Amino acid sequence: MDVNLVKGVGSKAFEYLSKLNLYTVEDLILYYPYRYNFIKVIPLIEAPEDEIVTIKGIIDTEPRVSYIKRNLNRMTFRLNTDGYLINVTIFNRSFYRMHLKLGRLITLIGRYDRKKNTFTANDIKFDLIKDYKIEPVYHLVKGLTSKGLSKLISECFRMRLDLDDYIPDYLVDKYKFMNKKDSAYAIHFPANTSILKKARLREIYEELFIFMFKMNYLKHKYDLNNQGLGRKVDRHKVDEFINALPFALTPDQLNAVNDIYDDLLSPKRMNRLILGDVGSGKTCVASIGMYINYLSGYQSSMMAPTEILARQHYASITDTFKNTDIKVGLLVGSMKKSEKNKIYQELEEGKIDILIGTHALISEGVKFNNLGLVITDEQHRFGVNQRSNLQNKGIMSDVLYLSATPIPRTYALTIYGDMDTSIIKTKPNGRKDIITKVVKEKDLKDVLYHMVEEIKNGHQIYVVAPLIEDENGESNLNDVVKLKEKFDMAFHNNIRVEILHGKMKNADKDAIMAEYKNGNIKVLISTTVIEVGVDVKNSTMMVIFNAERFGLSTLHQLRGRVGRNDVQSYCYLISNMDVPRLKVMEESNDGFYISEKDFELRGEGDLFGTRQSGDMVFKIANIRRDFKILLQCKKDATEFITNNLVDNFNKYPEFHKIIKELEFID
Ligand code: ADP
Ligand code: MG
Repeated sequence: MDVNLVKGVGSKAFEYLSKLNLYTVEDLILYYPYRYNFIKVIPLIEAPEDEIVTIKGIIDTEPRVSYIKRNLNRMTFRLNTDGYLINVTIFNRSFYRMHLKLGRLITLIGRYDRKKNTFTANDIKFDLIKDYKIEPVYHLVKGLTSKGLSKLISECFRMRLDLDDYIPDYLVDKYKFMNKKDSAYAIHFPANTSILKKARLREIYEELFIFMFKMNYLKHKYDLNNQGLGRKVDRHKVDEFINALPFALTPDQLNAVNDIYDDLLSPKRMNRLILGDVGSGKTCVASIGMYINYLSGYQSSMMAPTEILARQHYASITDTFKNTDIKVGLLVGSMKKSEKNKIYQELEEGKIDILIGTHALISEGVKFNNLGLVITDEQHRFGVNQRSNLQNKGIMSDVLYLSATPIPRTYALTIYGDMDTSIIKTKPNGRKDIITKVVKEKDLKDVLYHMVEEIKNGHQIYVVAPLIEDENGESNLNDVVKLKEKFDMAFHNNIRVEILHGKMKNADKDAIMAEYKNGNIKVLISTTVIEVGVDVKNSTMMVIFNAERFGLSTLHQLRGRVGRNDVQSYCYLISNMDVPRLKVMEESNDGFYISEKDFELRGEGDLFGTRQSGDMVFKIANIRRDFKILLQCKKDATEFITNNLVDNFNKYPEFHKIIKELEFID
């Protein structure tokens, strides 16, 4: 159901929601909080000094507002709390004045100073909190508040909902799970912690069950049903192509190519994972796979997690095939309808041999002529794609996954254990380790000198900051916009510095990327949009501000953007905090080692990406924290698959969508 049908969704709200990719009522309902505030109301006499507490009381005097500076105002009033009269001070909330009527019961969060009998409030709540309240906190866009979003979500629950429930009945019975709607409701509006816990358990289980289903389905399917495409390929032609590449393949790359070659020619369909660190040469191996597929007369598709990355793959793969007759196409969401239509047509007519794109590849009614090989980044296998509508004339495509997420062995065995896997460990020849240093902000000068030196040597630099722009000046984090000003000043505008971030228009992003690629831009400041896959070999330095804000796997991915040729590269982690994981980065360039350390150091590693970077794969589960559940899900999913394969999951229509997406056949 369209999100426009929700009461309270006008054009403004619609705009915010679409920024969050929420288009249907179901999307909105499944947009879960990323954490909760636990608010417990206590009597004032119990309030410990210097601790943030929540109290209730009745407004005893009209609030008075004084303006201290342009950006600073103070409001004061007296509050009657359990019979005590105290003075309340709150800064920069004068907009609440009209709601603070004499005699109104309110809840305040803040600190109480006994000596001065003053309560300094950080926030005021107007809805009555009984003894405690669990308040959901959502990832938001500017203009939308958690409260506003909550309101819309509560409206959704009044509507007739069509929520898919992916836990089979017998498992719901076995584990006594609550039903989908109740648990979704409890996730948004938890009445107490025990119901929240139950709901979360159910959602975590469901997410991991789907995940393990996806990891294991094809394997079992192919064991049962072996019809591959029966390709015929002249190996000499493949070798010729490999020999014409501008470099020699590493031994691991060659092994992976051979694995793929054997899979593609065997009577069995391929279901293979290529696991390798960033920059290890997976994309290159995938291209050779597409070439083999082309030689046997089929189309290939390659899905990337972001538009920037899809465009980048498109450019580099077009280049890889420039001396062949292969026609490469691009399909991403932001393209004009007419451009898309042209691609649709050429695709259906078989004029396009390789189609690169984002999720748009399978969600927009694309019709392939004869799709024989599907390559996808692991991210896309998570969750359920509600809008999948791929058509491929019943051809049984081979499937290849690429993953740059090095994970500790135990986890890898559980997750990937049943898949055919090729691991690329060795780095391309001549690659040097990236020299990494943690630097305090006060020593930034040293970094600036080094930056100038690198640029003098003809190289380019990435800079990453955690924020795009700090509009309220509230945070003490570095942001992209301010850093540009800083760098421009430091370099006296002699060095071209530009910014790139998710809120820019696509055309602007492309223009900046193109200018960076051709070397005109020397320093590119961005958020983690560039995290995945961007490949500009001339970049030799990565400078990450507020490095303590990023998890190890993100830092490792970011650093992987440099060190892409035989020139020495550098990574500076700017941080004023002594965070152990930054030391790990100084110590090692090995993604597998780093992932082991990550799991040792953090209760919850940011395995499979972080929500901040927008590439979060799990909404609610956490592989490490929920490892026991994962193991159970693996067992349950395997059983579920083997018991239902023969009659094609007839009893479980909700799985047909997932299966279709896994199989790439209609
Ligand atoms: P990944 O997909 O694993 O991040 P890519 O395939 O994109 O890695 O390779 C990273 C860079 O290294 C690309 O610029 C690619 O052209 C180059 N490259 C790949 N394989 C080799 C190799 N064997 N020798 C030298 N350079 C290579
Ligand atoms: Mg790549």
